[in-house]
Amino acid sequence: MPNQNQGFTSTVLKLRFMFHEYYKSNPNSIDVPDKIHNREFGIQSWEYNWFCPVRKSRDESGHDITTGCGQSGTSLSNIKKCPNCGSDEIQTTTWRRHVGYLNRDELIRDLTSVAPHSVYHSAAFYKIPVARHMDEKEWFGAELVFDIDADHLDLSCAKDHDAWRCNEKECHKTGTGIHPENCPDCGGKSFSTRKWICENCLGEAKKYTVKLYDKFIVNDFGFDPELVQLNYSGHRGYHVRVRDPRVYSLDSNSRIQIVHYIMGLGLNTEKVIVTQGRVNRVPDRDFPGWAGKIADAIVEFVRNIDSYNGTERWVKSLRKGKVAALDGLLRNPPILNPEAKDIGLKSWQEIAEKAAELYGGEIDRPVTHDIHRVIRLIGSLNGKTGFLVSQLNRDELDDFDPFRDAIAFNDGQMKIKFLQKSSGVPRFRIGDETYGPYHGESVELPTPAAAFVLCKGVAIIE
Ligand SMILES: [Zn+2]
Ligand SMILES: [Zn+2]
Ligand SMILES: [Zn+2]
Repeated sequence: MPNQNQGFTSTVLKLRFMFHEYYKSNPNSIDVPDKIHNREFGIQSWEYNWFCPVRKSRDESGHDITTGCGQSGTSLSNIKKCPNCGSDEIQTTTWRRHVGYLNRDELIRDLTSVAPHSVYHSAAFYKIPVARHMDEKEWFGAELVFDIDADHLDLSCAKDHDAWRCNEKECHKTGTGIHPENCPDCGGKSFSTRKWICENCLGEAKKYTVKLYDKFIVNDFGFDPELVQLNYSGHRGYHVRVRDPRVYSLDSNSRIQIVHYIMGLGLNTEKVIVTQGRVNRVPDRDFPGWAGKIADAIVEFVRNIDSYNGTERWVKSLRKGKVAALDGLLRNPPILNPEAKDIGLKSWQEIAEKAAELYGGEIDRPVTHDIHRVIRLIGSLNGKTGFLVSQLNRDELDDFDPFRDAIAFNDGQMKIKFLQKSSGVPRFRIGDETYGPYHGESVELPTPAAAFVLCKGVAIIE
């Protein structure tokens, strides 16, 4: 469909132009990371860089054959064949790694002229950030970074708004939620997925971010809030960066231990939930560390017990005794109410263990663990949504509404066409306006709503 291809090309060009205009008029929105000259930047462009490698091999009758032409270039779509020689062994990428900037002006000049799809920088500091190989960069520390992403929270709304499509040529079966391991129609294993965001996912991600910040980063670890940076990622979650020089030298193992602590893994609940006299006891809320959090963790767990999938022996009793259990746990000091019947010490310990794991939430572990990872630049635009990677302080976080407060484009209207896909585009809200659902129609939308669906790749410019 030449028409649609043209639509894709003009969409990419239009988005890049909008990003360009944004950076030109809002250079001050960019947050320049500390020690910028020691950071590696990663730039994701709108276009694909392709390279056609020359390969020499021998055919069955022993003749030398050469494939590929050694040319390289850029393309606005993800091409599969070399435009020069037709070889199908070309390599394409949208990434430029090992980029460095000496100062703020250089960074802003580059962002304005390139207007990239996405911009990242290392949490790490390097002596030579532009060196091609990690061992030549001379790492000398990294901020401690946490990523709370709705993707990892296993939320029920994903079943409604995420979709997949089988990549097998003759099949193209579609479905909602996370794709199965094997396509139910053809057994194929390759799928295209479309992830969506809604108020629920972003609300949940925020809830866990607040908890991470208040209960763990500030309360348990005692980091100075002035040295903790918070931001919305521009897509499905939030980042927390600890910029206290005391964490810079932590190795991967120490970082993963911090994550495991927050996630309540390996918590010894036999020491926390004990029998005193003939009463089962839960620690007071003012106990330091996990002990003081257990009552609240169990409260959250009991509140959601009706939707809990586990089959442990105590599930039925806990459902029956829900009101009494909550009543006891919400007191100060909290108690394990004996009126919630048939739940013994061992059961309470198991409940506490499950509750702790759910309470801390799922942190994207590799992000914290990998000391060479790059993370989105605050104040840049996220090409998956057109939203702003928004810096927030703790107070702003409470009322932050990504669908209102992370909007980067405001003026005008755009004519767009939704792509014909059987799963359709779910309803979404931008500002106070709700849009959709859409199934392939051509519409005129306000620019912020249009930019969102164009970036999401579910519509093209008409
Ligand atoms: Zn070629
Ligand atoms: Zn299939
Ligand atoms: Zn959702």
